[in-house]
Amino acid sequence: MFKQIETSCSCGATGTVNKNLEIPLEKMACTSCGKENYVSNYYKMDIALSEFCNLKCQMCRRPSYAVFMDKDWCKSVMTEAAAIGIKVISFSGGEPFVHKGIWEILDHAFSLGLKIQLVTNGTLLRKEHIPVLEKLDCCTVSLDGMRDNHDKIRGKKGSWDRTIKTLEMYAESNIQWGTNTVIQKDNFTEIKELFNHIQKIGGNKYSYCGFSNVELVPETLHLALNKDEEKVAYEQLLAIKEDAQKTHTWFNDDILLTKYFQRFADKNTRVRPHGGCTLPTRFIGFSAHGFYPCWHIGKALKQKSLIEALMSPEAKEIVSSGLCKTCVGCNTFNYSWDEEWVNGVMKSFDTNENISYGVVALPNPFEEELSGATSGNTIDVEW
Ligand code: SF4
Ligand code: SF4
Repeated sequence: MFKQIETSCSCGATGTVNKNLEIPLEKMACTSCGKENYVSNYYKMDIALSEFCNLKCQMCRRPSYAVFMDKDWCKSVMTEAAAIGIKVISFSGGEPFVHKGIWEILDHAFSLGLKIQLVTNGTLLRKEHIPVLEKLDCCTVSLDGMRDNHDKIRGKKGSWDRTIKTLEMYAESNIQWGTNTVIQKDNFTEIKELFNHIQKIGGNKYSYCGFSNVELVPETLHLALNKDEEKVAYEQLLAIKEDAQKTHTWFNDDILLTKYFQRFADKNTRVRPHGGCTLPTRFIGFSAHGFYPCWHIGKALKQKSLIEALMSPEAKEIVSSGLCKTCVGCNTFNYSWDEEWVNGVMKSFDTNENISYGVVALPNPFEEELSGATSGNTIDVEW
């Protein structure tokens, strides 16, 4: 599969090349000065700073023994990411703010001139952090219900109050922020009430709202909605979509959540985009365990250098399994990825191709056993 890719050189020359996507990263000579530059289709890197978290969400799957990302390694990889054309870096965890080096890491990320995004549970942020957070492209805060249910789902009393305090702080700032809610058994009746509450706090500062289904693996099956419960959630999503317009709050994944809700809700399917999945050529996950061109495939590239990793035969193999649709397939719509992916997936549904059925345990990307919260991956941080 080939794609037109824009190129630029430090000599000022710009152009396009017809890039073979089966080769994740290659060097090409500038047609003007002859300098060799890296050419790739990558645009986004997702960095899991650690698997530690200060909360214990019932749907969270983390290695039972957690590690922190090495700060200097993280900085050097981000520099490489910028050199190969990545434009967006998104930080997640665990909880990114339990990593002590996060402020230095963020400083470095901003210095590279990239768009920086972040996902947080919102419990550890203070007023003095606002000026740094205002430099983010966006900050997504996860909230999973009103006070009692949120605290139950999150496994820690007081977390709702703490996160709401953060949103109140955000509403007074210039941070571009939104929320994400994981729809599940314990919150499906109150997602509209929760949205109303956040809208009241944020008003026009509430930039976007997102909803996803709980990721279904054998251990989380009990959190899934049945058909009647799905209808209750669906009615509320329609109402949220309508109300969101009043405060100019962007309703993420409109098409999936409203037009194709049944496909979204049916977690029994795994699907690959019709023309082949190019995500492993566009996106790269990075954790203390290595580089993941696809989190779902779960194979880590262990090299220390991002460039060496993407030039390895193993990277080619992962990319090829996406393009050839031999990958495990996405457990539908836990992640909607982007428009190209969604269109490809919809076409697979329409033609009833590239679909596998049944909830499977996805390959484990970690050497340690995956579990929920354990004493090995939960960290107590004062808030
Ligand atoms: S325990 Fe909750 S807040 Fe922490 S990483 Fe998991 S889902 Fe996020
Ligand atoms: S599992 Fe397959 S379809 Fe899903 S993101 Fe990875 S390569 Fe694409």
